[in-house]
Amino acid sequence: MPDPKDPLAWIDDQLDCLQRAGLRRQLAVRSSRQTARITIDGKALVNFGCNDYLGLAADDRLIAAAHGAAECEGWGSGASPLVSGRGESHAELERRLADFEGTEAALVFPSGFAANAGILPAIVDEADAIYGDAKNHASLIDGCRLSKARRFVYPHGQCDALAEMLKQSAGFRRRLIVTDTVFSMDGDRAPLARLAELAQEFGAMLMVDEAHATGVLGECGRGVVEQFGVHHQVHIRVGTLSKALATGGGFVCGSQKLIDWLANRARTYVFSTAQPPATSAAALAALDIVRDEPHRRRQLLERAAQFRLRLSEQGWSTGRSESQIIPLVIGEPDRTMRIAQQLRDAGFFVPGIRPPSVPDGESLLRLSLCCHHTEGMVEALLAQLGRLAVTNL
Ligand code: PMP
Repeated sequence: MPDPKDPLAWIDDQLDCLQRAGLRRQLAVRSSRQTARITIDGKALVNFGCNDYLGLAADDRLIAAAHGAAECEGWGSGASPLVSGRGESHAELERRLADFEGTEAALVFPSGFAANAGILPAIVDEADAIYGDAKNHASLIDGCRLSKARRFVYPHGQCDALAEMLKQSAGFRRRLIVTDTVFSMDGDRAPLARLAELAQEFGAMLMVDEAHATGVLGECGRGVVEQFGVHHQVHIRVGTLSKALATGGGFVCGSQKLIDWLANRARTYVFSTAQPPATSAAALAALDIVRDEPHRRRQLLERAAQFRLRLSEQGWSTGRSESQIIPLVIGEPDRTMRIAQQLRDAGFFVPGIRPPSVPDGESLLRLSLCCHHTEGMVEALLAQLGRLAVTNL
């Protein structure tokens, strides 16, 4: 029975509900570096469950850069960027990100989540409308909610439905289309060329989140915007430093006036302490590697294409994945977690993803390929999945 004197007693009930629905999460501890082989809760596993796509999370060059900056600038930044927190490494990183993306300016936020949660309310409010993909990341959804703008959600990737919504909903002061470019759980891409056309046709702003594309997709690693050649039609480009760039933080690139405005009005920028300078310095080293070692992204994407093919030959559904993120779509949370456990027992870490991270009925195993995987690791996982397909499909 819940204790009537405990104001937090409701939490016990709610946790029980999650448990019964197979949706309760437990915190785990990784006691190794984030590389191809990790130890989680004391168990050594081959790691197919992280976003360190280029295999840089434990790269010596990033560590040396962080070390150098910590020696020189100290560890903590000590204040928000507008007060005294923005040091030389931060300023240099913002310049380099703008150069990399080919925009006038860039701004670094404490995280990718903070970037999205801060940018959206700074550019639209009650008088405006936002049109978002149904599978947008939680940080975009929360940014939309915080903005208080009228929200329209179009079915995943369906531009005809979006066009209809745009047609039917005139009369707003400003309109904004917002989408992930590579969807974080499905690994598919937004139809960016068509979205850019629609934004132009309806006079809307277009904001994209390249979190899983930066450093990986596009000839120079600039993401899906580069792949589709829509550089000039995308007004607000968000990325994270936490995935392929293997450090931490989020960023936005665009025109100087956009960046000036966000530095004044994005609350998660204005009211949050600047990231440690060592993090910015490590991100700078990662950008050098993205520029100098294009074979990393090329090999990764070739391997992902092969991998998807082999999985579908085994009978697994990999949805519409077109990237290094490869979902094995299972459906029910219990079955998904059972297969994740079977993989774990066989020595592989592949996280099971359940609601609310995916819609009901769309639980999946989220398999991410990274440069640090060897041929042998990938073959061993395929062999294991082949065995599991026989009993689970
Ligand atoms: N956008 C997308 C599409 C993401 O998948 C994530 C993180 N999973 C974020 C933003 C948030 O980035 P960060 O982890 O740097 O806060």
